[in-house]
Amino acid sequence: MECNINHAGKWDKEDVYYCINHHKKASINGKKLDECICNKKDYEKCLTINKEDIFSIKFVYPNLLTNLESILEVNGQKINILYIGRSMLEKRDFGGLLLSKLNNINLEVEVCPYCNNIHSDDGKFAYKPHNPHLCAYCGKLFHVNHPNIGNEIATIFNINDLKLDNRCLEIKSELKIEYDILKNSLLVNNICCNKIRINNEEYYLKDYLNEKLYNEF
Ligand SMILES: [Zn+2]
Ligand SMILES: [Zn+2]
Ligand SMILES: [Zn+2]
Repeated sequence: MECNINHAGKWDKEDVYYCINHHKKASINGKKLDECICNKKDYEKCLTINKEDIFSIKFVYPNLLTNLESILEVNGQKINILYIGRSMLEKRDFGGLLLSKLNNINLEVEVCPYCNNIHSDDGKFAYKPHNPHLCAYCGKLFHVNHPNIGNEIATIFNINDLKLDNRCLEIKSELKIEYDILKNSLLVNNICCNKIRINNEEYYLKDYLNEKLYNEF
């Protein structure tokens, strides 16, 4: 897919150009680039599907002790981008959904007034209510009535609250997080728990992931 670059207004007083096909910035220091900063290869592994045809969505961090890589698996197929209707869902949006649900955030539906797409919050924005929002579809900042948090995935699927068992899991060489979106289940190394212990230090899973995924937006 070719880039489609438009002027997106100003972020921090600097002109920004934005690619609406790849949802990435396409300028440096206010100067427009010929292509956006995305890795084109990422967009080869995508899936366009009707909501009704989806029977499984899993979002996995294979080992957060060593890296922040993630896997998105829809109907057993590993992909990077999921297209449903006019929605373009990226891995970071599923990470955002996970953080929002862990933090018991009431997700609100915020529609960008410039492009009419639904806003998703990722990384720290998935648990810190904020205003304005930066639209991933068109790259423009938009204001809402009060600071809040949204996620487009929650407008497509029925996302219930996560229920974690009250137990602490000892973590040694692997920290695998597996979020089954349609089953509302979250497992750590295949175990349901709300706390983990790493090097004799105990953390609430929520606090650990909030910090670990802070910049994943
Ligand atoms: Zn692009
Ligand atoms: Zn936002
Ligand atoms: Zn927009």
